[in-house]
Amino acid sequence: MFELTDSFIKDVKDRIHKKPNIKNLSFDEVEEFVRSKGFERYRADQIINDIYVKKIETFAEMKQLPKELKQVLESEFEIVSILNQRKRVSSDGSIKYLFELADGKSIEAVYMPWVDDKGELDRSTLCISSMVGCPVACAFCATGTLGFKRNLNPSEIIEQIFRVEKDLNTKINNVVIMGMGEPLLNYENVIKALRIMTSEKSKILSRRKITLSSSGIAPRIKQLANEAKPVKLAISLHATTNKVREMIMPISKSFDLTKLMDSIEYYYRKTKIPITYEYILFKDLNDSDEDVERLAKIAKRVPSRVNIIPFNDISFTLPQGISKELKPATRALMNNFATKLRDKNVAVIIRDTFGDDIEAACGQLALSEEKNKSGDK
Ligand code: SF4
Repeated sequence: MFELTDSFIKDVKDRIHKKPNIKNLSFDEVEEFVRSKGFERYRADQIINDIYVKKIETFAEMKQLPKELKQVLESEFEIVSILNQRKRVSSDGSIKYLFELADGKSIEAVYMPWVDDKGELDRSTLCISSMVGCPVACAFCATGTLGFKRNLNPSEIIEQIFRVEKDLNTKINNVVIMGMGEPLLNYENVIKALRIMTSEKSKILSRRKITLSSSGIAPRIKQLANEAKPVKLAISLHATTNKVREMIMPISKSFDLTKLMDSIEYYYRKTKIPITYEYILFKDLNDSDEDVERLAKIAKRVPSRVNIIPFNDISFTLPQGISKELKPATRALMNNFATKLRDKNVAVIIRDTFGDDIEAACGQLALSEEKNKSGDK
């Protein structure tokens, strides 16, 4: 964990969210603010560069700005909005971070290092959250059991990257918005964060290095396709019939497979970016030969890849109903399912799980934190 003195933490806790966070402003809004206070527009670029490139966390440290502008900024805005609270390091090198927000709520991010054949770090991926909790309530997900608490704002979304980069003294090469929450149900804030992250001025990431994962909010998928800088799209599919999908993903009662596929085809037509389908393989639920047939048909509608994913244990959430019935597929079953798909010319990978030994299921750390707060151990 990076070093934070107690007095710094207290100072930040006292200040954050008492004033608006400047990272919630688009770059046009920063410029508008600067000009409205009588300063020249290039000052906005200096502020943006200090915050996003130099990662400066107090206005006092912004050496190029005149004293008067620093005072105005200090009186109107904060820069820091989340704090590292806890982290767990896995034997495979992945790290699960728990962050505390200004209102005391918790979110998670997971760092995943990818090493090359020589054991050198090749690239690093960070899985970030877009909400506290989630309203979608997928039967296989620990976050769903938290319920929906609130949306994250752009600064809270972006700062997860900054906190981890600072803690590990590394550069994050890929970001997947696949942590807590359904990003397309927090559309406005997520898009604002994406526009900032992919801007030439922030130098955070290229849009090609960002993947947004959705449970399938069809109208928002179409809206996302029309963004100026569309990102890679991953769809949590997990079933090949509406009946099974509705059992494990209640959201599909609103957006069935017909609507979902229509929106995916639109996304590909507009962006020409291949789609990734996430498919958790459950024993005796979505693993039949008929599922292979249907999944192959779905996967071929636009250029795509299927990720077969093992089911993470969520028994610690004391699952009820269908959640209680879900059984993980063995590795042999996963290999067999993947081979049958490949025989039908579908691009498939079996995705490795990271952090099996550090409470790998999404939402687990935050869930245990919630329980600790309520005294429910
Ligand atoms: S899988 Fe994603 S959309 Fe479904 S409940 Fe979990 S966080 Fe929400």
